[in-house]
Amino acid sequence: MSKINKAKHWLDLKKLILILATLCVLTSLFNALFATYQVQKQTMIKDTLESNRAYAAKLADVTDLFLQSVMAQLSNASQLVANNFANKEAVNTELAQLLKRTNSFDSIVLVDANGQIIDALPASLDVTGTLLTNEVLTSPLRHQTPKIIGPFISPAGNLMVSPTYPVFSADQEFLGFIAAGIYLKGDNILGKLLASHHHRDETYVYVTGPNGKLIYHHNEHRIGEDVSANPVVQKLKANQFGAEEVNNTLGVEMLAGFAPIATSQWGVVAQRPLQITMSQLNHTMLHVIKTTAPFTVFLLICVLGLGTLIAKPLWRMAKISEQVQDGRNADFPSVPTWYYEAAWLNQAMQHSVKSLGEQIQRFDDERQQDQLTGLYNRRGMEKWLASAADHNIPFSIIALDIDHFKQVNDSFGHDVGDVVIKKLAELMRQNARGDDHLCRSGGEEFLMFLPRVDLAQANKIAERLRGCTEQTQFDVAGHITISLGVSHWPQCSEDMLHALKLADRSLYQAKANGRNRVEQAVVANHQVA
Ligand code: GH3
Ligand code: MG
Ligand code: MG
Repeated sequence: MSKINKAKHWLDLKKLILILATLCVLTSLFNALFATYQVQKQTMIKDTLESNRAYAAKLADVTDLFLQSVMAQLSNASQLVANNFANKEAVNTELAQLLKRTNSFDSIVLVDANGQIIDALPASLDVTGTLLTNEVLTSPLRHQTPKIIGPFISPAGNLMVSPTYPVFSADQEFLGFIAAGIYLKGDNILGKLLASHHHRDETYVYVTGPNGKLIYHHNEHRIGEDVSANPVVQKLKANQFGAEEVNNTLGVEMLAGFAPIATSQWGVVAQRPLQITMSQLNHTMLHVIKTTAPFTVFLLICVLGLGTLIAKPLWRMAKISEQVQDGRNADFPSVPTWYYEAAWLNQAMQHSVKSLGEQIQRFDDERQQDQLTGLYNRRGMEKWLASAADHNIPFSIIALDIDHFKQVNDSFGHDVGDVVIKKLAELMRQNARGDDHLCRSGGEEFLMFLPRVDLAQANKIAERLRGCTEQTQFDVAGHITISLGVSHWPQCSEDMLHALKLADRSLYQAKANGRNRVEQAVVANHQVA
C-alpha cells in the first residue's frame, strides 16, 4: 500500500474549511462594502448636484429681485432728474438722497447725452466733467434703455458693474443716463447678498457677468478673472440652468449647480469640490466598516467553529486510518459523528477493517493447516511450540507413522491412501482433548502435542490410539497399524527440539521393534534426580 506523503499533504480539511470560510466572509464583506460605496457615491453626487442646482436657482432669484428693485429706484430717480435737469443743485440733491436712501450703491453718476459726467457722488470720486470714451461706458448713450453694464474699471479706477437708466425729458428728448455703481471689490451689496451663503460645508458661490468674467467670488483676488472657458459658464451664457460634474478653470473637479439671472446676463454658480463629497463618503464607509466589524468577526468565529466540527470526525478517522496502516491499531474504533456522511464513513471503515482482519486471520489459519486432514501443518506446529515455550507449558509428544503405508498405496492406489490418512486424522482427534495440538508433520507421519500431560499418561494415550487404529476397519484398505514414539518436554529433554527428536527416535525404535507398538523416550537425568 503506498504511503501518503505527510509533508506534501500539510493541507487538511480543517485548514481548507478555514481558508474557504475566511475567503467567503471577506469576499462577501468586500462585495457588500463595494456595492454600498458605489450606490452611496452615486446618491451623494446626485444629492449634491440637486442641492447646488436649487441653491444656485434661489440665489439667482434673490439677485434678480435685488436688480429689479435697483432698476425701480433708478427709474424713479430718472423721472425726478428729468424734471429738474437744468437745475444742477436740485439734481445733486436728488442723487445724494438716492445714494443715501438705497444703501445699495457705492456711487451714482449722471451722464449727459454727449457722454460727459455732469454730476458724480460721492464727491470724493472727483470725476465731474469727465467725457466718457470707453465703449462699455458709453453704450447706454446708444441703446438708451435700462441696462446693467460691466464689469469694467471706472474712470475713478474701481472695478464695478453698473445698472444704468436713461433720462428722457417730458417731450421724450434723450437727456442722458443715470448710472449706479456697485463696486466688486471690498465690502459691497453683492457680497452682502451672497457672502452669507458661501463656504457652507465647502460649497461656495460665484457670479459671472455677460462676458464670462467673475463679478462675485469669495476669493476677492479672482474677481474680474475671465472664466468663460468653464463649460458651466458657457451654458449660463446660453441662458441654460441645471447641474453637472465639471472641471473648473483651476482644474478642480466640482459638483456645480447653475442658474442665469433674468434681469441681467449674469449667472450664479453654486459648487462643491467632488473630493469633499468623496472624503465625506470615505468617512461614512469607515464608520460602516467599524460598525460591521464585530459582527464580521462573530460570523468568522461561528463559521470556523462549525468548520472545525465538520472536519473533526473526518480528521479522527484519517488519524485512525494512519494508525491502522502503521500497524499501531488493529481495529477501527467508533468515532463520534453528528452528520450523515461521517456516520456512514465511520461505519464503513469499521466494517472494512474488521472484515479485513477476519480475512487475514482466516488466511493465517489456512496457512497453518493441512489441506487433506484439517490438522495443523509444520507452520502451525512451530507457532504452537513457540507459544508453549513463551508460556512455559510442559507437554508430551507422540510421533506416529503408518506401518507399511507404501503397500496401501501400491495395492489400492493413492486415493485410497489419502482416505486412510484422513481417517487416521479423525481417530487422532477422537483420542485427543480440546487443547491438544494435532499435526501432520509429513506424508503419513503425525505429531500430537499434549499440554500438561506427563509421559506415563501420554504413553497410555498412545497405546489407546494404537489399539483403536488396529481395531478400525478402513474403507477399501481394511486394517492398518501404526507405530508410535512418546517423549516429553522438559521431562525427556530441556531442549524442545531435542525432545521432538527423541519422540521421533522412539517411533523408529517402535518400527525397529516390530511395528504396531509404542516406545517411550527415557526420562532425562535431571528430571529423575
Ligand atoms: P514403514 O513406515 O512401516 O517403514 O513403511 P512405509 O511403507 O510406510 O514406508 P515409507 O515411510 O518409506 O513410505 C511412506 C509412503 O507414504 C511413501 C508415499 O508414497 C506415501 N505417501 C506419502 N504421503 C502421502 C499422501 O499424501 N498420500 C498417499 N496416498 N500416500 C502418501
Ligand atoms: Mg513414513
Ligand atoms: Mg510408514
